[in-house]
Amino acid sequence: AQVVNADFVKSSVRPDDCPRDGLPEFALVGRSNVGKSSLLNSLVRRKRLALTSKKPGKTQCINHFKVNDSWYLVDLPGYGYASAPQEARTNWDEFTRNYFLSRENLVSVFLLIDASIPAKKIDLDYASWLGQNKVPMTLVFTKCDKRKKKKNGGRKPEENVETFQGLIREYFEAAPPWIMTSSVTNQGRDEILLHMSQLRNY
Ligand code: GDP
Repeated sequence: AQVVNADFVKSSVRPDDCPRDGLPEFALVGRSNVGKSSLLNSLVRRKRLALTSKKPGKTQCINHFKVNDSWYLVDLPGYGYASAPQEARTNWDEFTRNYFLSRENLVSVFLLIDASIPAKKIDLDYASWLGQNKVPMTLVFTKCDKRKKKKNGGRKPEENVETFQGLIREYFEAAPPWIMTSSVTNQGRDEILLHMSQLRNY
Protein backbone atom coordinates (compact mmCIF):
# COMPACT_ATOMS: atom_id res chain seq x y z
CA ALA A 1 0.00 0.00 0.00
CA GLN A 2 3.01 2.32 -0.28
CA VAL A 3 3.21 5.40 -2.45
CA VAL A 4 5.77 4.93 -5.21
CA ASN A 5 5.05 8.11 -7.08
CA ALA A 6 2.68 11.06 -6.76
CA ASP A 7 2.17 13.94 -9.12
CA PHE A 8 0.05 17.03 -9.21
CA VAL A 9 -2.39 16.66 -12.11
CA LYS A 10 -4.72 19.65 -12.16
CA SER A 11 -6.75 22.24 -10.31
CA SER A 12 -10.44 22.35 -11.06
CA VAL A 13 -12.92 25.06 -10.28
CA ARG A 14 -16.01 22.94 -10.88
CA PRO A 15 -16.75 19.24 -10.36
CA ASP A 16 -17.26 19.04 -14.15
CA ASP A 17 -13.63 20.03 -14.77
CA CYS A 18 -12.19 17.16 -12.72
CA PRO A 19 -10.28 14.31 -14.46
CA ARG A 20 -12.59 12.01 -16.36
CA ASP A 21 -10.55 8.82 -16.43
CA GLY A 22 -12.72 7.28 -13.71
CA LEU A 23 -9.83 6.27 -11.44
CA PRO A 24 -10.83 5.85 -7.79
CA GLU A 25 -10.28 8.89 -5.61
CA PHE A 26 -10.16 9.92 -1.96
CA ALA A 27 -10.86 13.49 -0.94
CA LEU A 28 -9.18 15.22 1.99
CA VAL A 29 -11.18 17.99 3.60
CA GLY A 30 -11.10 19.87 6.88
CA ARG A 31 -11.04 23.20 8.64
CA SER A 32 -8.19 25.44 7.54
CA ASN A 33 -5.14 24.82 9.72
CA VAL A 34 -6.29 21.28 10.61
CA GLY A 35 -3.04 19.90 9.14
CA LYS A 36 -4.33 18.86 5.70
CA SER A 37 -1.22 19.88 3.73
CA SER A 38 1.06 18.27 6.30
CA LEU A 39 -0.92 15.03 6.12
CA LEU A 40 -0.92 15.02 2.33
CA ASN A 41 2.84 15.50 2.29
CA SER A 42 3.29 12.79 4.90
CA LEU A 43 1.15 10.33 2.90
CA VAL A 44 3.21 10.79 -0.24
CA ARG A 45 6.51 11.30 1.62
CA ARG A 46 7.17 14.53 -0.19
CA LYS A 47 7.83 17.68 1.75
CA ARG A 48 6.33 20.09 -0.69
CA LEU A 49 3.81 18.40 -2.92
CA ALA A 50 0.85 19.97 -1.13
CA LEU A 51 2.36 23.42 -1.58
CA THR A 52 0.74 23.24 -4.99
CA SER A 53 -2.62 23.52 -3.26
CA LYS A 54 -1.49 26.51 -1.23
CA LYS A 55 -0.49 28.68 -4.17
CA PRO A 56 -2.59 31.80 -4.56
CA GLY A 57 -5.70 31.00 -6.53
CA LYS A 58 -5.52 27.27 -5.86
CA THR A 59 -6.72 27.16 -2.27
CA GLN A 60 -10.32 27.34 -3.43
CA CYS A 61 -9.89 24.70 -6.12
CA ILE A 62 -10.25 20.94 -6.24
CA ASN A 63 -6.62 19.77 -6.61
CA HIS A 64 -6.00 16.29 -8.01
CA PHE A 65 -2.81 14.34 -7.25
CA LYS A 66 -2.31 11.03 -9.05
CA VAL A 67 -0.71 8.29 -6.98
CA ASN A 68 1.11 5.27 -8.42
CA ASP A 69 -0.50 6.15 -11.76
CA SER A 70 -3.67 4.44 -10.57
CA TRP A 71 -5.69 6.50 -8.08
CA TYR A 72 -6.18 10.07 -6.88
CA LEU A 73 -5.71 11.96 -3.67
CA VAL A 74 -7.87 15.05 -3.88
CA ASP A 75 -7.20 18.17 -1.85
CA LEU A 76 -10.39 20.15 -1.31
CA PRO A 77 -10.62 23.75 -0.11
CA GLY A 78 -10.34 24.11 3.65
CA TYR A 79 -13.47 25.44 5.32
CA GLY A 80 -14.04 27.83 8.17
CA TYR A 81 -11.70 30.70 7.33
CA ALA A 82 -12.85 33.37 9.76
CA SER A 83 -11.70 36.09 7.38
CA ALA A 84 -13.48 34.90 4.24
CA PRO A 85 -16.32 37.08 3.09
CA GLN A 86 -19.66 35.40 3.62
CA GLU A 87 -20.33 35.12 -0.09
CA ALA A 88 -17.10 33.27 -0.84
CA ARG A 89 -17.83 30.86 1.99
CA THR A 90 -21.24 30.02 0.62
CA ASN A 91 -19.69 29.42 -2.78
CA TRP A 92 -17.13 26.94 -1.51
CA ASP A 93 -19.80 25.17 0.44
CA GLU A 94 -21.94 24.70 -2.60
CA PHE A 95 -18.97 23.77 -4.75
CA THR A 96 -17.58 21.11 -2.40
CA ARG A 97 -21.03 19.79 -1.62
CA ASN A 98 -21.74 19.42 -5.34
CA TYR A 99 -18.50 17.53 -5.69
CA PHE A 100 -19.43 15.14 -2.85
CA LEU A 101 -22.85 14.45 -4.32
CA SER A 102 -21.90 14.17 -7.99
CA ARG A 103 -18.45 12.61 -8.17
CA GLU A 104 -19.01 8.98 -9.07
CA ASN A 105 -15.44 7.73 -8.60
CA LEU A 106 -15.20 9.26 -5.10
CA VAL A 107 -14.57 6.24 -2.87
CA SER A 108 -14.50 8.01 0.48
CA VAL A 109 -14.20 11.49 1.93
CA PHE A 110 -11.47 11.73 4.54
CA LEU A 111 -12.71 14.35 6.98
CA LEU A 112 -9.83 15.75 9.03
CA ILE A 113 -10.52 16.70 12.63
CA ASP A 114 -7.97 18.33 14.94
CA ALA A 115 -7.69 15.95 17.92
CA SER A 116 -5.70 18.44 19.96
CA ILE A 117 -8.71 20.69 20.60
CA PRO A 118 -12.30 20.05 21.72
CA ALA A 119 -14.93 19.38 19.01
CA LYS A 120 -15.86 22.43 16.93
CA LYS A 121 -19.40 23.07 15.75
CA ILE A 122 -18.35 23.56 12.13
CA ASP A 123 -16.69 20.11 12.09
CA LEU A 124 -19.74 18.50 13.67
CA ASP A 125 -21.93 20.22 11.06
CA TYR A 126 -19.72 18.94 8.25
CA ALA A 127 -19.66 15.36 9.57
CA SER A 128 -23.40 15.31 10.13
CA TRP A 129 -24.05 16.67 6.63
CA LEU A 130 -21.92 13.90 5.11
CA GLY A 131 -23.67 11.30 7.27
CA GLN A 132 -27.14 12.55 6.44
CA ASN A 133 -26.31 12.58 2.73
CA LYS A 134 -24.83 9.08 2.93
CA VAL A 135 -21.48 10.22 1.53
CA PRO A 136 -18.93 7.52 2.47
CA MET A 137 -16.63 9.02 5.07
CA THR A 138 -13.52 8.19 7.05
CA LEU A 139 -12.64 10.32 10.08
CA VAL A 140 -8.98 11.27 10.27
CA PHE A 141 -7.96 12.78 13.59
CA THR A 142 -4.88 14.99 13.19
CA LYS A 143 -2.20 16.29 15.58
CA CYS A 144 -2.53 13.26 17.90
CA ASP A 145 1.06 13.87 19.04
CA LYS A 146 -0.03 17.05 20.84
CA ARG A 147 -0.29 15.98 24.45
CA LYS A 148 -2.36 17.53 27.19
CA LYS A 149 -1.66 21.19 27.66
CA LYS A 150 -3.61 23.77 29.58
CA LYS A 151 -4.32 25.74 26.44
CA ASN A 152 -5.95 22.67 24.87
CA GLY A 153 -8.37 22.54 27.75
CA GLY A 154 -6.17 19.96 29.42
CA ARG A 155 -7.76 17.17 27.41
CA LYS A 156 -5.96 14.32 25.72
CA PRO A 157 -6.43 13.71 21.99
CA GLU A 158 -8.11 10.39 22.84
CA GLU A 159 -10.75 12.21 24.90
CA ASN A 160 -11.47 14.71 22.13
CA VAL A 161 -11.75 11.85 19.64
CA GLU A 162 -14.21 9.97 21.83
CA THR A 163 -16.35 13.06 22.41
CA PHE A 164 -16.44 13.86 18.70
CA GLN A 165 -17.52 10.33 17.80
CA GLY A 166 -20.24 10.41 20.43
CA LEU A 167 -21.58 13.71 19.08
CA ILE A 168 -21.94 12.51 15.47
CA ARG A 169 -23.21 8.98 16.18
CA GLU A 170 -26.84 9.83 15.60
CA TYR A 171 -26.18 10.87 12.00
CA PHE A 172 -24.73 7.52 10.92
CA GLU A 173 -26.29 4.08 10.64
CA ALA A 174 -22.87 2.56 11.35
CA ALA A 175 -20.01 4.45 12.97
CA PRO A 176 -17.62 5.70 10.27
CA PRO A 177 -14.09 4.24 10.23
CA TRP A 178 -11.58 6.46 12.01
CA ILE A 179 -7.80 6.79 12.13
CA MET A 180 -5.59 8.68 14.59
CA THR A 181 -2.71 10.47 12.89
CA SER A 182 0.24 12.77 13.39
CA SER A 183 2.29 14.34 10.65
CA VAL A 184 5.06 14.90 13.19
CA THR A 185 5.52 11.21 14.11
CA ASN A 186 3.85 9.83 10.95
CA GLN A 187 1.42 7.95 13.18
CA GLY A 188 -1.48 6.61 11.09
CA ARG A 189 0.16 7.08 7.71
CA ASP A 190 0.42 3.39 6.87
CA GLU A 191 -3.02 2.80 8.32
CA ILE A 192 -4.55 5.41 6.00
CA LEU A 193 -2.79 3.97 2.96
CA LEU A 194 -3.86 0.44 3.88
CA HIS A 195 -7.43 1.57 4.46
CA MET A 196 -7.44 3.30 1.05
CA SER A 197 -6.11 0.19 -0.65
CA GLN A 198 -8.79 -1.95 1.02
CA LEU A 199 -11.48 0.48 -0.12
CA ARG A 200 -10.12 0.26 -3.70
CA ASN A 201 -9.94 -3.53 -3.50
CA TYR A 202 -6.29 -3.70 -4.43
P1 GDP B 1 -3.75 23.11 6.55
O1 GDP B 1 -4.11 24.55 6.60
O2 GDP B 1 -4.91 22.25 6.97
O3 GDP B 1 -3.15 22.66 5.26
O4 GDP B 1 -2.68 22.86 7.73
P2 GDP B 1 -1.09 22.74 7.68
O5 GDP B 1 -0.67 21.39 7.23
O6 GDP B 1 -0.53 23.91 6.98
O7 GDP B 1 -0.78 22.81 9.26
C1 GDP B 1 -1.25 23.88 10.06
C2 GDP B 1 -0.37 24.00 11.29
O8 GDP B 1 -0.48 22.84 12.13
C3 GDP B 1 1.12 24.12 10.97
O9 GDP B 1 1.69 25.00 11.90
C4 GDP B 1 1.64 22.70 11.16
O10 GDP B 1 3.02 22.67 11.50
C5 GDP B 1 0.78 22.20 12.30
N1 GDP B 1 0.57 20.73 12.20
C6 GDP B 1 0.10 20.06 11.14
N2 GDP B 1 0.03 18.74 11.39
C7 GDP B 1 0.49 18.56 12.66
C8 GDP B 1 0.65 17.40 13.50
O11 GDP B 1 0.38 16.25 13.15
N3 GDP B 1 1.13 17.63 14.77
C9 GDP B 1 1.44 18.88 15.22
N4 GDP B 1 1.90 18.98 16.46
N5 GDP B 1 1.30 19.98 14.45
C10 GDP B 1 0.82 19.83 13.18
